[in-house]
Parts: sequence; structure tokens; C-alpha cells
Amino acid sequence: MTYNSISVNRALGDYLISVSLREPELLQELREETGHHAYGGMQITPEQGQFMALLVKLMRAKRCIEIGTFTGYSSLSVALALPADGKLICCDVNPQTTAIAERYWRKAGVTEKIELRLAPALETLATLLSAGAAASFDFAFIDADKPEYDGYYEACLQLLRPGGLIVIDNVLWSGQVADPGRRDQSTTALKKLNRKLHEDARIDLSMLPLGDGVTLALKR
Ligand code: CA
Repeated sequence: MTYNSISVNRALGDYLISVSLREPELLQELREETGHHAYGGMQITPEQGQFMALLVKLMRAKRCIEIGTFTGYSSLSVALALPADGKLICCDVNPQTTAIAERYWRKAGVTEKIELRLAPALETLATLLSAGAAASFDFAFIDADKPEYDGYYEACLQLLRPGGLIVIDNVLWSGQVADPGRRDQSTTALKKLNRKLHEDARIDLSMLPLGDGVTLALKR
């Protein structure tokens, strides 16, 4: 089977953005501020944020969870798409980057919808599960430490209701997942997870070459 999809060069990418991106002003401001950050490249692309917001609306999601908040671009995209009674739990360990996120949540008036949990995400996920939150979430976004992805995935799968969606970022890892010579911890973890999901009968699956590669896993 051969992959057949249009290749996007600079001009076509610019065109795509020019006719499709509807980035709210605050998200643009946050993206520009984060661009000056040492790890600015870690934030998702604006079209990916818009895509996730569309998914949240499409699913009429109310209860969401995010693993890896960084400076808040994805969380703000999701929170703005949630209804007034929607909730997003944000898991991260960095008080400095999430302080930027919190500042923008306040500016956007979405603080009521968001709960930040500053702790290792695997701990937060375990806490939620032991508090009886299994099968209660509609949407999960995984975008944190790659070696822990499988653990995040398994916990999120338990937290989701049937028909809930897990979105996983960086699954193409700048192309390194297709390089048999790459054996570092993060690439190996991503390769393993990608293969596992391909065979995983608990989900319906789609992998998109959007941003750095995005997997959609719909819980059956
Ligand atoms: Ca990412």
C-alpha cells in the first residue's frame, strides 16, 4: 500500500493558512509570546488548535483532559470550544510555563472551565481513576513525555466513555519514527505505541500528517 497525499510546500501551506485559519486574537497573542520562549517550538500549530476545537464541538464534548499543557495554546483552543458548563483538566509539571497558560485563561475568561493539576500526569490520571472517574471523559489530548505515552494512553482509554476520543500529538516525530536507525527512548516509545494502536481492537484509528503527526483513537 502506498501513501498518497498532497505534499505541502511553503506556498501551498501559506495558501492553506490564508483560506482556513481563523485564529482568535488571544491565541495569536499567546502563540507569538510562546514563540520567544526557549522551547517555543513545542507548541502545537494554530491549524492543529483549530482542528482540535472543531473536534470538541463536533463531539459536543463536555469533559476533557489534557496531558502536557506547556504555555496553554491547546488548552485555550479546547476551552474556547467547550460549552459554558464544560470542563478541562490540564496536567503538567511546570509551574513557569503553566503560569503563562493561566494568564491567558484569565484573559479569555475560561478559568471556570479549567482545572490545572501540577503533578506528574500518570499520578493525576491514577488519582482520577481511583476517584471513580473511569468512562466519564469525552476527549483527551496527549502531548507530553514521549516515553510515558503508552501509560498516558492506557489511563486515558480507561477515563474515556465509549465513543470518546484520544488525540495524540507528535506521532510522526519529525519523520524519525520511519528511520530504523533511530533507537533513542522517545522515538522507540513512539514507534512502539504507533504499532500497538494499529492492532488495538479497543479503538477506531486514524493517523494524520498534520503538524508533527496526529493520531485519533476513538474508544469503542
Ligand atoms: Ca507536541
